Amino acid sequence: MTATHSTRMLILGSGPAGLSAAIYGARAGMAPIVVQGIQPGGQLTTTTDVENYPGFRDVIQGPWLMEQMQAQAEHVGAKMEWDHIVEVDLSRRPFRLIGDGGTVYTGDVLVIATGAQAKWLNLPSEEHLKGKGVSACATCDGFFYRGKKVAVIGGGNTAVEEALYMTNHSHDVTLIHRRDTLRAEKILQERLFAHPNIKVLWNKAVDRFVAGGTPEGLVGLDLRDTRTGEISRLDVEGGFVAIGHSPATELFKGKLALDKDGYIEVETGSTRTNVEGVFACGDVMDKTYRQAVTAAGTGCMAALDAERFLAEAEFEASVAA
Ligand code: FAD
Ligand code: NAP
Repeated sequence: MTATHSTRMLILGSGPAGLSAAIYGARAGMAPIVVQGIQPGGQLTTTTDVENYPGFRDVIQGPWLMEQMQAQAEHVGAKMEWDHIVEVDLSRRPFRLIGDGGTVYTGDVLVIATGAQAKWLNLPSEEHLKGKGVSACATCDGFFYRGKKVAVIGGGNTAVEEALYMTNHSHDVTLIHRRDTLRAEKILQERLFAHPNIKVLWNKAVDRFVAGGTPEGLVGLDLRDTRTGEISRLDVEGGFVAIGHSPATELFKGKLALDKDGYIEVETGSTRTNVEGVFACGDVMDKTYRQAVTAAGTGCMAALDAERFLAEAEFEASVAA
């Protein structure tokens, strides 16, 4: 027989956004269920040092931070379910979600915190050197490249912002773009071109991230000229891939309003989506900040928005009865 789990507050995703929503929801007496997905703890479980999450003077480890968040959520009454949702029905309340083994989850309100994943170049050498010189987040990892030569790959707003950000740490930043014009906004381009510590290499694609040294790390990039095919070497110790992010919103296409990049649209200043009773928080609705602390902040907002929504709905129902 198919198992069914029902709750007032159903939370999809167990990164900083989902777990923060769970802490607030549990403390508000909503006995939330968190469906964790295939990456319990979210993106921070894929990294090591975290130095910018407030509250810790010393460096902490991403997986440890997420274990603590989960333990805190469970301690105040949230329940974790290790399942991956494959189908959602948002057409009526309670909302109904189905896991990949057929388990059914229903919630009077739904908080979506499915996050986003950085896009990668998908080169074997990139995979090999992830965390050893290759990163997809300058704001997170830039600090570890103080005084070193670095490169940022991409031509959109993210790449330009990451290149500018890296000048806080490095005097030698190279932006590598596969074409001869950037996609980034003009104002960002102007700042980029005016910066004395940034140079741009046009019409270049990364062919290989080059490993070397002891302990092994990134020592350079083999670049392919996209017009001539010629290969050249750029010596760098940090390579930041900034070619975009994909929000995890496949499940919600046609069911929720998404923006042109696939992020869930929320009302300004809140986490309300266009479907009453459905709230979104964290990287799945935020293409600008994409940090653990902002994800946790919007997770808190989603739980508070959801609690108020339920209180109003229940009050109206009691008046009508
Ligand atoms: P995520 O952390 O992406 O979590 C998404 C959750 O949704 C996961 O639990 C996943 O299993 C679940 N999920 C997705 N789809 C489904 C589904 N269909 N069914 C069920 N569950 C589902 N930020 C910082 O502030 N400081 C740092 O130092 C830092 N370092 C980083 C290093 C790396 C390598 C990366 C990749 C990111 C880093 N970030 C850092 C960014 C930070 O991790 C994210 O901003 C943050 O994790 C976003 O939180 P989230 O809860 O919105 O989503
Ligand atoms: P983006 O705009 O999609 O740009 C991605 C860039 O990466 C493009 O220049 C693209 O090259 C390049 N690229 C893609 N795949 C590549 C590959 N396989 N190899 C090499 N290069 C590749 O992504 P984004 O910069 O992350 O921005 C996403 C959205 O968030 C945009 O709407 C952006 O405006 C927004 N955003 C806004 C801000 C802000 O407002 N401050 C900050 C960050 C992001 P081509 O140009 O050749 O396609």
